[in-house]
Amino acid sequence: MSNIIDAISALRLKQGRRLVGTLSPAVRQLVERCGSAAHLVADTLLVADDLVDNHGPGQQAYITACEVGDAVGDLVYRPLLSALAEVGAAAAAARCRHCQPRQPLRLVTWNRSGSSAEGLHDLIIGKGGTSDFDIMLEFDGPFRWAPPGAEPADIEPRSAPQLWARPTDNAGFVTLHWVRTDRCGHEEPLEALPADSVRRMMLDFCRVRMDGEITPTGPAVNVNKSDDKDGGIDFVFCLLVRGWWPAPVWPDGAPWDTSFGVHLVPTGRPGSKTESIEYRISLSRAELLAVRQLCPGLRAAVKALKAIKNMLKESGVAIGDLLKSYFMKTAALWVAQEPHGGPRTGVTDGAHRLLDWLERRLDEEWLPCFFYPAINVAAELTAVQRQAIIGSLRLVREHLTPLLMTCCEKRQWSLNTLLEGRPTEPLSERQLRLRLGRTLLRRAVLEGIRLRPTAPCWESWWSANIPSLARAAPRLLQWLHHMMSGTHRQQCLLLMAWSVVDPADLADGEPMTSPVGDVTVTLDVTPLTRLLTDSDLVFLLGEPAAVAAWCRRERPAGLTAEPDTPRGRAELLLRPELLLRALGEAVPREMDWWREVDRETKEAWEGNYRPPRTYQQRREVLERHLRLPGLLQFWLRVKLPEMDGPTVVATAGLWRRRLQQLLSGDRLRAAYDAAVGRWPDRWQLLQHYLAEDDTQGKSAAGAAARVSL
Ligand SMILES: [Zn+2]
Repeated sequence: MSNIIDAISALRLKQGRRLVGTLSPAVRQLVERCGSAAHLVADTLLVADDLVDNHGPGQQAYITACEVGDAVGDLVYRPLLSALAEVGAAAAAARCRHCQPRQPLRLVTWNRSGSSAEGLHDLIIGKGGTSDFDIMLEFDGPFRWAPPGAEPADIEPRSAPQLWARPTDNAGFVTLHWVRTDRCGHEEPLEALPADSVRRMMLDFCRVRMDGEITPTGPAVNVNKSDDKDGGIDFVFCLLVRGWWPAPVWPDGAPWDTSFGVHLVPTGRPGSKTESIEYRISLSRAELLAVRQLCPGLRAAVKALKAIKNMLKESGVAIGDLLKSYFMKTAALWVAQEPHGGPRTGVTDGAHRLLDWLERRLDEEWLPCFFYPAINVAAELTAVQRQAIIGSLRLVREHLTPLLMTCCEKRQWSLNTLLEGRPTEPLSERQLRLRLGRTLLRRAVLEGIRLRPTAPCWESWWSANIPSLARAAPRLLQWLHHMMSGTHRQQCLLLMAWSVVDPADLADGEPMTSPVGDVTVTLDVTPLTRLLTDSDLVFLLGEPAAVAAWCRRERPAGLTAEPDTPRGRAELLLRPELLLRALGEAVPREMDWWREVDRETKEAWEGNYRPPRTYQQRREVLERHLRLPGLLQFWLRVKLPEMDGPTVVATAGLWRRRLQQLLSGDRLRAAYDAAVGRWPDRWQLLQHYLAEDDTQGKSAAGAAARVSL
């Protein structure tokens, strides 16, 4: 036994050395120099990122805009999806006219879920990332749901059809059946909407209509274009079961209100005897709401651990895909419920608690689903796999500080300011705090300019988001703009700068906060600019003396104090238009640099923000489908070579008919107007972000404090 333990320790030591070898020299130097305070780097910078990115109403606006785009896409996708659903339903065996519906399933909406909707993704505009986009295609049919659980008694034919979710031996997995009527001749309730058939339908749909590599994964079909800089899109079939909630009963006021119900997605528990027809409960909607409520430190910790998992994978050190993002998310939701035990600050503490929780639960062989603890979300792991994950968790724990610091680098944080001085010179905690404050302040100035209201990048942003949101959800448009703005970023970054620096290093006897109303405290930004060193000013201004001379000469509007006083400096640095004007006239070469930044940002945004298709574009695509006789059949034959001849003919015929219907009269116009004119909020999310009466968002970050001039 001790031999095995020795071998495991030796392996981890070797893996650790290999992992450390992949770290950048900057990270290794900084860890060395900062000693026990090194954790402050990630605790400050990664939380700042989370404050910037996880703006509740802004996040909601983002996925709403995506869903409006999906609804416009739906216009060209739906005819084929309908045809596949109808042909599939007609082909289903064992029909009974008493208990089964006559109409096929119908697509209701496309909804975003998963990491990109929850704000746990690693995507950076223009750079991409590894996260995928999850889209849940919700279907419905002419049936009602019987109470889940024990088999319902026979019903009268006029109450049919009813769908019954029969539990399997594995919690969270069910099979679907049509409730028997008292006229039915068959003994057993018939299988309903078997999961393998709807998965097949989704796969066929993607193979015919989508370009790229198409891979079924669990309940989803993943579509990844070769030029995608992300994990592609997961398309997931789902059914909504309203009012059904497994357990436990949550207290009133929990955001994951149980009345909304759950979704069922078509995937079975491996090895189960009904695996091919099983559905799994999906709590995506509740998870989306709950994850967005996590405190910034914990949410940033989940994102960091996901990034670290990718680092381990890239460096070939450990575990590959065994440690699922879903485990980390589950851990975070549980850890967030734990009572306060001492100070809970920052990402490092959050990551430690997630690692501890995961190790403990894997050791106990039970990772309880947050909303339904009877489900073990790691049930499919073997003992060997569990041990492998635990080994990786320990490896991460041992090297957590440098790994988290590497996350900062990957999130585009420059560590240069922190590394000033001789490479072996130790940094005290106070010095590190001051340098972090400067790093944040420098970033705040740069982001203020880069994303100023008149920056050229906004052109593509407006052309994408106005048509998406102006009519569908106008109250969200301004929140999205706010979340993306330089102003919002500045506020978040300055707030973090305030919180990392010891007030004694700023104060100089001046009042720094002033109460405004009941809930808002205004922090004066002026003292913060005392942190800036000469090198910072050279970095930001090129030639500080030339800029100051210009300011004294021109006395530009917006500048109320001398440019070399803290007040004047704050005004100059945090008013982007004023700063650019000063640079343009006093230090023209700085403007060349800014023009380059503008160009790069504009390009990155243009690649990211594309306007939704217009009505005319949709019409042309649909008409093109009908122009050549036999085109639809040809596509089906090429893309689905295994489909038999009669099915091809039937599917193409229905597809054609659905296209013709959509193009007749003003139906397409009406459908297009509906897609861009009203966002249905199918998941009832808006209530959590916008007050009933007007545009007051319930943004905690926005309400708590503002840093102002
Ligand atoms: Zn029947």
